[in-house]
Amino acid sequence: MKNEINGELDAVINDRGLLTSPRPSIDRPQLQHHLAEVLRLLHVDLNDENLLDTPRRWAESLITMTSGYDFTDVKKLTTLFRKACSAADEKCQNLVVIGGTFKTLCAHHILPFFGKFIIGYIPNKTIIGASKIPRIVEVHMRRLQSQEHLAHDVADTIEHIVEPNGIAVWMGGVHLCMVMRGVEQESSFMETNVLRGAFLEDERTRQEFMSIVNRRGQRE
Ligand code: ZN
Repeated sequence: MKNEINGELDAVINDRGLLTSPRPSIDRPQLQHHLAEVLRLLHVDLNDENLLDTPRRWAESLITMTSGYDFTDVKKLTTLFRKACSAADEKCQNLVVIGGTFKTLCAHHILPFFGKFIIGYIPNKTIIGASKIPRIVEVHMRRLQSQEHLAHDVADTIEHIVEPNGIAVWMGGVHLCMVMRGVEQESSFMETNVLRGAFLEDERTRQEFMSIVNRRGQRE
């Protein structure tokens, strides 16, 4: 039964057509036309052999990188993730920590920002498989984002699925819009912390999480 659900979940994540309400289908010729126009307005020579196929490639990469907008049926996704959870007994009510990486596009400049996340939660009745958390991050990162919103979106979704006694999301990322536009490079690494429930109320829980972040999360 469990495997069947995980299979269904994988299928939904990998094939976005399976989620009932995909984005209205994208008009690719129009998108390519307008992207070519953008390049023309920038006085880029589209006859350059390196650029012949660029509007098409640019369009396809934008479609992929914003595919998180296809997951419009959050309720269905949540229900599915919830089915992939298991019951937490008394022994597993300690801090659960899961880490991974994210990459996304900033909503202000449509330039990448990427880095690491560390997520901790205190189970109440349910625990979620460790491999599912990066999937949740994945859904949210394929949208135009700010790091703050991404962290909150991920916290909201996990909170909704697992109903934990507390959730903490740390993200540390390098923002190319700061690096490439010549804004001071020192500030291109940004940290975001979302702390809720036990992580706000209990100093020790918060300390425990933050010491894990300090060990594992900082830029290498
Ligand atoms: Zn930006």
